[in-house]
Amino acid sequence: MENESIEDGIVALIKKAETDLSSDVVNALKKAHKVEQGIAKTQIETILKNIDLARKSGRPMCQDTGIQTFFVSIGIDFPYIDKIKEWIVNGVKKATKEVPLRPNTVDPFLGKNHGDNTGEQIPYINWDINDGTDVKIISFPKGGGSENMSKLGMLKPGVGIEGVKDFVVEEMIKAGGNPCPPTVVGVGIGGGADLSLKLGKKALLRPVGIRHKDKTIAAIEKELIERINKSGIGPMGLGGKTTVLDVHIEKAHRHPASLPVGIVVQCWADRRAEMIIHSDGTWEVK
Ligand code: SF4
Repeated sequence: MENESIEDGIVALIKKAETDLSSDVVNALKKAHKVEQGIAKTQIETILKNIDLARKSGRPMCQDTGIQTFFVSIGIDFPYIDKIKEWIVNGVKKATKEVPLRPNTVDPFLGKNHGDNTGEQIPYINWDINDGTDVKIISFPKGGGSENMSKLGMLKPGVGIEGVKDFVVEEMIKAGGNPCPPTVVGVGIGGGADLSLKLGKKALLRPVGIRHKDKTIAAIEKELIERINKSGIGPMGLGGKTTVLDVHIEKAHRHPASLPVGIVVQCWADRRAEMIIHSDGTWEVK
């Protein structure tokens, strides 16, 4: 097992996420470009040109390269589980120099920046255990402008799902152009305060345009897309038909006295990439 080769794989994973926007997001932006007019159309055109340039030049698509966030799914029979965190941390340090990434981690009290995108709890790694011998790592760099528009609502259960929908629409209208729309909105309903936000972020891993498998939830997602887009906030908040590219909902059971709703917003730079590490140390980035 060559640690260095896998750390280089993590660098390739981060580079892919930062420079090559997934086709589902690009296609949704192209669709938006067709329906928009005037300044909104120009904004989407600029975004699409920027995406193309980033891919061709291998440079990050946005100056804010985000907080390095990962979703790791470990096959229980993978033989090097104890090494995964080290690979990711070292990969982030290398990627900071090689991609390069903006040094984006500061101590909340001192403002001190390590300069390599690591720090306490960062990179932020979400762990999950499954059957099998492979490890799947999703890189999900998260920009500050869109993350700042996240919201937690501890709603009164009596407001019901109609109250949840109103809360999401109102918050997205309040966010306006701040999260660099058109955005993708992840909504976590239920669980507790922390779980609803976690579900909201996890919901963003679902490709744009894919509806929830539960038909009732899928219909609510569609309704929210329409209602938010009717606001007219538009691309980059300058007016237009496309404020969101998609809304994804995930749910958990809740306490009878609580109705937590976690909203996590992702900007047009909806960056994601996936890597598989096999038990023999070979890897591929998709
Ligand atoms: S919100 Fe997204 S597009 Fe806007 S500056 Fe941050 S990372 Fe870039």
